[in-house]
This record gives sequence, structure tokens and C-alpha cells, in this order.
Amino acid sequence: MSEAKPKRRMTRQRKKILEVLKSTTCHPTADWIYEQVKKEIPNISLGTIYRNLNVLKEMGKIMELNYGSSHSRFDGNPVQHYHFTCTECDNVLDIEESVHKDMDQRIEEELDCEVDYHRLEFFGRCQDCK
Ligand code: ZN
Ligand code: MN
Repeated sequence: MSEAKPKRRMTRQRKKILEVLKSTTCHPTADWIYEQVKKEIPNISLGTIYRNLNVLKEMGKIMELNYGSSHSRFDGNPVQHYHFTCTECDNVLDIEESVHKDMDQRIEEELDCEVDYHRLEFFGRCQDCK
């Protein structure tokens, strides 16, 4: 017997977090989001921010960008796209290049598997740092 997943409502807190994420292109950390949301919801905790970021991710409203041991960054655009990370200033920039769906198909054929998505990341120095 399968258990039904609880329905996730769009609460005021989640709405505000999403609003903050959609209003920036800087791919912020949870701490940065916390500082912004606190301006309107002063009693919110960092733990609540983390929990709601996870829920929003599960809802498919946002993306989490993992950088190994360092803090995750978050993206208000949930549609798969590539990023460039500056190794000097830690800026994360969106790349216009369209996602290479043809690669998924090639890998499926090569491994006889089913690919859901792939990750491709670019690192270097941005316009200001190079
Ligand atoms: Zn830079
Ligand atoms: Mn992005």
C-alpha cells in the first residue's frame, strides 16, 4: 500500500522566500535569503528558511545548486539550465546556451538506461575578475 504524499500548500513564508528568489539573479545562499525575508517576517528562523527551501525544491518551484562542501546556492528558476561560477568572487551566472538534451539520449543508448537530467558546470574568472 502506497502512502499519499502530503499536499504542500503555498504558505506566506514560502511565498515570500519564492518572491525573494525570483527577484534576484545572484543565486543566493540560505543566509542571504534569510536576511531578506527577515525584513518582512522578523520572527522567522534560519531553520525555517532551510525547511521551506527544501519544500519549495520538492514542489519543483526552485533549484538547489550544490557546491560540494561549501554552502548550497538557490535558484528561483526551476527549469534546467547551465551555470558559470567565478572561482575568484563566487558569482554564479546563468548561461544562455540551451541544455544539451541530445546528450541524454546518447547516454541512454550507450548505457541502456533512462536519463532524467544531467549537470554541466563551468568554472573560471568572470568579466570583472579575469
Ligand atoms: Zn568574479
Ligand atoms: Mn540560474
